[in-house]
Amino acid sequence: MTVTKSARSKKPVKPTPQQSEHVHTTKVPCEPCDTLSAGVARQIRYGLCHNEQANSAIFDALAFGVKEQMLDQWRNTRLKDNQFEQKQVAYLSLEFLMGRALGNALLNLDLTQDTKALLTEYAVDLETIEECEHDAGLGNGGLGRLAACFLDSCASLDLAVTGYGIRYQYGMFAQKIVNGYQVEKPDRWLRQGNPWEVRMPHRIVSVPFFGHCTSYQDKAGYTQHVWQDCQHVLAVPYDMPVPGYRNGRINTLRLWKAEANDDFDLAEFNDGDYAEAVADKNLAEQITMVLYPNDASENGKELRLRQQYFLSSASLQDLLTRYVAVYGDNFSQFSAKNAIQLNDTHPSIAVPELMRLLMDVYGLGWDNAWQITSQCMAYTNHTLLPEALERWPVSLMQHMLPRIMQIIYEINARFLEQVAHKWPGDSNKLAAMSIIEEGQKQQVRMAYLAIVGSFSVNGVAGLHTQLLKAGLFNHFYQLWPHKFNNRTNGVTPRRWLVNCNQRLTELITRHLGNEWIHDLSHLTALNAFTADKAFVKKWAEVKQANKQVLADFVFEQSGVRFEPNMMFDVQVKRIHEYKRQLLNVMHVIHLYQRILNGDTANMAPRCVLIGGKAAPGYAMAKQIIKLINNVAHMVNNDPLVTPYLRLAFLPNYNVSAMEKICPGTDLSEQISTAGKEASGTGNMKFMMNGALTIGTLDGANVEMIEEVGKEHFFLFGLTTAEVQQLKASYNPQTYIDKSPALQGVLNMLRGGHFNLVEPGIFDNIIDAICDPNDQWMLAADFDDYCRAQAEVSALYAKPTQWQKTSIRNTAASGRFSSDKTIEGYQQHIWLKESFV
Ligand SMILES: *Cc1c(COP(=O)(O)O)cnc(C)c1O
Repeated sequence: MTVTKSARSKKPVKPTPQQSEHVHTTKVPCEPCDTLSAGVARQIRYGLCHNEQANSAIFDALAFGVKEQMLDQWRNTRLKDNQFEQKQVAYLSLEFLMGRALGNALLNLDLTQDTKALLTEYAVDLETIEECEHDAGLGNGGLGRLAACFLDSCASLDLAVTGYGIRYQYGMFAQKIVNGYQVEKPDRWLRQGNPWEVRMPHRIVSVPFFGHCTSYQDKAGYTQHVWQDCQHVLAVPYDMPVPGYRNGRINTLRLWKAEANDDFDLAEFNDGDYAEAVADKNLAEQITMVLYPNDASENGKELRLRQQYFLSSASLQDLLTRYVAVYGDNFSQFSAKNAIQLNDTHPSIAVPELMRLLMDVYGLGWDNAWQITSQCMAYTNHTLLPEALERWPVSLMQHMLPRIMQIIYEINARFLEQVAHKWPGDSNKLAAMSIIEEGQKQQVRMAYLAIVGSFSVNGVAGLHTQLLKAGLFNHFYQLWPHKFNNRTNGVTPRRWLVNCNQRLTELITRHLGNEWIHDLSHLTALNAFTADKAFVKKWAEVKQANKQVLADFVFEQSGVRFEPNMMFDVQVKRIHEYKRQLLNVMHVIHLYQRILNGDTANMAPRCVLIGGKAAPGYAMAKQIIKLINNVAHMVNNDPLVTPYLRLAFLPNYNVSAMEKICPGTDLSEQISTAGKEASGTGNMKFMMNGALTIGTLDGANVEMIEEVGKEHFFLFGLTTAEVQQLKASYNPQTYIDKSPALQGVLNMLRGGHFNLVEPGIFDNIIDAICDPNDQWMLAADFDDYCRAQAEVSALYAKPTQWQKTSIRNTAASGRFSSDKTIEGYQQHIWLKESFV
């Protein structure tokens, strides 16, 4: 393998024209409301208003008006950051699950009250207008929503962080339920236009694909590599503003759209195949057409690798352009001035891509380029599930990205020398740790590439990081213990408390002032109010009002009536076996059976809500949705049952749905098999809004229990160690034999009670529960789950105690603000001084 040794750039690097903006001292309007009002009026006057859609026209006008408000501050933020006074961070993520932007922008810019006043002129309330905004659903679930919460916290903490992502034309599919089954509909979120985005044609870059590599000796005798005859795809940036909480900073989420290069297929033009050549442009534009809808499992499709490289290359080129505009070709400050956070392995091809750009475009030698790359990159791992670990066939990589494959081989060769030095003569270690997995088909292990190329590797909750170090990445931990660190996830309190639960926010602020919005640890002061009867009563009234809102929403979306005097027991998240929605339904069936048997003693009346999307190719998850719907049908149509129990499946769970769900929830279900959920963030949103949690010792539940105390949490189930120990000898039948409740549930399922006219459709599910290879261990945890649920019922029967526990949960949720999480990233990763 030859390597680039040249240390000099062939061409002097000049600042690009877009860098030559100067700071103007634009006066910020002192009466934002007047400006906004005039802006909105202007938008409406100039033709946006169609009568039949008056509300969405007002939404558009308002959004454009709010964006206009941000332009000066946005520009000032950019110009300031282009000076590189503080270290710049690029957060690379294939997913940003942003949801709606209007409410959040108004809150952060302190325009909510003014807007409400303004809208009285149009005789419409703000909530109605907010409902007109389509969710930006550019993500699957937790990982994508984390990226969105991080952007809000980074801007609010005045950090120079840019989000880099893909502007998918179709985001996360819309879920419909037809005859109890999930049906996917394309999410055409851009059809009505996106008022927040700004196309930035002067920052277009070009991304190479295919072609082949050659090398030559330059005049100084160094080997230079050329990647030639490639197809170039244009990456066009669309910027979205990310306003900080009332601090004047407007950060940027830069989303790349793929467009065909004009000379994409000039040869065909010359052959007279004009129409063919133009049609070929679609191939380029396909790259950013659709978000892959897999959560916690890899996909392996060629187009997905194209998306990953497209995002990584475009973003790094953008970063380098900005740097070079200030420092020219002096790269000695690059790693001091830039950090690149990789959100899972999805953008980990950025490691060899940064090497390529530094060597082939900017002329650095290998050692220098590697020093820079490995001091900039930081990798966040999000899962231990083996099916989620990305591996790309070497043959595919070779074909699509030949120069990148060359660089990966060289990274690996040099890395394996280090392994051999640490463990002399241990060929097993070499095979186990190699970035290239050998076998019939060689594959690139993207997680190993990310670890080798990064100075920081972090898990997303204490337990998760511990398991990474002890298991999946143990060899790497032994080699580089200093790289590993934990950064427990968090959620932004602006969206997930202040904006979504205004009643609770008002109550808290009336008693604590408003400092807690900046520093959520102040919420601990709420504990004192558990002794204040009037406060506890108010707390209960807020929950009751929020439950009514949720009940209306559930009815509108599913047709099931929820009764706000009953307990609202909620599990919303992606449908996955490890999250165990099935365990939840089994408990519902158990309660249903008890009710039919007249055994309603000590049973608190409940409304159970389950929602979430299944990956379209995940058959078992889809069957579980069908089961939930069939059980719901039986439960909800029996008037003897509905006073005690109701069940609804909420279609199309997304961010804006969660904003209505978490404020109205009494009981949050966080019941994954121990050791499988990396962190969870839904658990934190519920806790902040005063829900009590029933859950396993998994993910961030562990830390929630540390904060609130185990007496205020309904803990059940096997521990991670017990799950691991039991695996070899697991036999569900022993649990079934011991449990009349579980026998009852299985008998009812086997008897076809929920599928009388659809014989056999749940056989797979029954078999899975009884399978000794059931790695989710449903049967093992069932009885203890029912025991904990009985404790839930008992506490719900004591409303005052329940409300006090609710207050304690909110009071203890401060640790789960993503502001805290981001302070940790900033202090321990992005600003880390020395790299051992
Ligand atoms: C918070 C959130 C998630 C993550 O939920 P988990 O329970 O942590 O899996 C997924 N989807 C949406 C829409 C969310 O808001």
